[in-house]
Amino acid sequence: MLISHHGAVTGTTGSCHRLQIDDHNAVLIDCGLFQGDEKGESDELKRQQIDFPIDDVRALILTHVHIDHVGRLPYLLAAGYTGPIYCSTPSATLLPLVIEDALKVGFTRNERLIKAALNVMQRQLRPVEYKTWQSIELPPAPHSGSAGVPPAALGRPENRQAQSAPLPPRGSELARDADPSATTTHRPSDTATEIDQTATPPPVRFRLQPAGHILGSAYVEIDVGTGRSAQRAVFSGDLGAPHAPLLPAPRPPQRADIVVLESTYGDRVHENRKTRVARLQAAIEHALADGGTVMVPAFSIGRTQELLYELEGLIHQHPHWQDIEIIVDSPLAAKFTAAYRQLRPWWDAEAHARVRAGRHPLSFANLYTVDSHEEHLKTVTYLAKTRRPAVVLAASGMAAGGRIVNYLKAMIEDPRHDVLFVGYQAHGTPGRAIQQYGPKGGYVDLDGQRYTIRARVHAITGYSAHAGQDDLVNFIARMRKLPREVRLVHGDEEAKHTLHDKLLATANARQQFLRVSVGQAWA
Ligand SMILES: [Zn+2]
Repeated sequence: MLISHHGAVTGTTGSCHRLQIDDHNAVLIDCGLFQGDEKGESDELKRQQIDFPIDDVRALILTHVHIDHVGRLPYLLAAGYTGPIYCSTPSATLLPLVIEDALKVGFTRNERLIKAALNVMQRQLRPVEYKTWQSIELPPAPHSGSAGVPPAALGRPENRQAQSAPLPPRGSELARDADPSATTTHRPSDTATEIDQTATPPPVRFRLQPAGHILGSAYVEIDVGTGRSAQRAVFSGDLGAPHAPLLPAPRPPQRADIVVLESTYGDRVHENRKTRVARLQAAIEHALADGGTVMVPAFSIGRTQELLYELEGLIHQHPHWQDIEIIVDSPLAAKFTAAYRQLRPWWDAEAHARVRAGRHPLSFANLYTVDSHEEHLKTVTYLAKTRRPAVVLAASGMAAGGRIVNYLKAMIEDPRHDVLFVGYQAHGTPGRAIQQYGPKGGYVDLDGQRYTIRARVHAITGYSAHAGQDDLVNFIARMRKLPREVRLVHGDEEAKHTLHDKLLATANARQQFLRVSVGQAWA
C-alpha cells in the first residue's frame, strides 16, 4: 500500500491523492483544481491537466465538493476515467452544482455540452451513506509474469522530474522523516518490497465518516487486505472545527496505519465560536454606526451558509438590527443555500432546534439574493452610495475574481466600509494582500489597478470551516494506538512545520513511535 500525491503538496489546492493497492490497481482520493499561484503554470488548461496515468484507477472517492477537491473532475473524465465516483449522499446533491459552475468557468458556456458532461458524471456517481463499509471491486490481475514495476510508478517519462523538498528537516530525533528522500514514494526501488506482487488483488473496502467541514464532507477510511496483513489508510480531506454552525462535529478515527492529514491551520489555534460571533457582531456594528457595507469574500459552499446561519442568530438576538440588509450576491451561493435547506436531515441538533422554534436559519426576512449581472452592478453602485448598512457576501473567497472584486473596487478606499475575511487566503491572491497590507494602510491590485486600502480589515479564522491546530492534533492523538505514519498535505510550509513538531511532541510524550512526513508530489 503506497500513497502519493497529485496535488496539495506545496500548498493547499489541487488535492488529489493516489493509494496504490498493487501493481495494477489504485484508488484516487479527490481530484481538485489548482488555484492561486500554485503549480506555477500560466496556461490554465495545462495547469489543470491530468498528468498521471489513470488506467489502473479503479475508484475515485470524493471527500467533499469544494473546488480544490473536485474541480479537476471534468479533466479526469475527459482523460478517459470511466470508473465509479464515490461520495456521501449530500455531496452527490451538491456536486452537480459545483461541476456545472466549474465547466462554465473553465470549459464552455454551451449548455448542451455542459448537460452532456454532467450526464456522464451522474452515471458514474455512487452516493454512499456515512459510517458504512463499501467494497471496491478490483479486476483479476493480468498474467502474473508481467508483475514488477507498477505502471503507475513508471508513469510517463516527462512526468518524472523530482520535486524539490518543501520542508528541511528540523531538530527532533524523528524529524529525519520530514526529509523527502526518506519518504518519497513511487521510485521502483522503494516500492518493490511494499507492493503486493501476488496475482489476486487484496480486498479493498472504504467507509466515509463525517468531517464537519461542509455539508456532505467526509474523511475516508480505506482497508486494504484482510487479517494480520490488513492495512488501514485514513485520508482526512478537509476537517472542520468542532462547534461549526449547522454541522455535527467530526469524531477522530479509532485507528489507522497511515493518515494523510490536512494542515491548513497547523500553526493556528482558532478562536472559539463565542469570540467569532462577537467579532462578527463588532464588524456589523461598525457598519450599522456609519452606514457602511461589510464586504465578505466567501466561498459559495459552506462558509456562506455558516455565516448566514450566524447572522440569523445575531439578528434574532438584536431586534434593532432589522434594518440591516444581508445580500448574497452570487447565483451559485443562492443555489447552494437552497440545497443546504433541502439537506436539513444532515444538520446538527442546534440547527434542528432553531427550526423547531419556528425560525428559518437559511431564509430569513433581511436576506436578499442577487442573481443577474445587471442587478449585481446596480447593487455595487447602490451600496457604495447609500448609507444603509449592509453585509454583502460574494465569491470568490480569496477575491481572486468573481463579483466581490467589483465591490472591493468600489468601496475599499472608503473607511466607512469593512472587509471581513472568513476563510483562508492563499499566497498570491488579492485576499492575501488585503489581509496582510490592509491594516498597515497598504494597497492591493485589483483588475490591474492599484487601490489604497482604507476600509477596515477583519479576519475571523473560525469560520474558515477548517480544523485548528488543536483539532488536527486531536484527530491523531485521540487514537489509542498512534498510526505508524502521518503524512502532512494541504498546508503552507510554516503550518506543516508547526504541526509536524506538535505531532512529534505528542508521540514523544506518549512514548510511542510516530513518523511524520510531508507529502511529496508524484513523480
Ligand atoms: Zn474544503
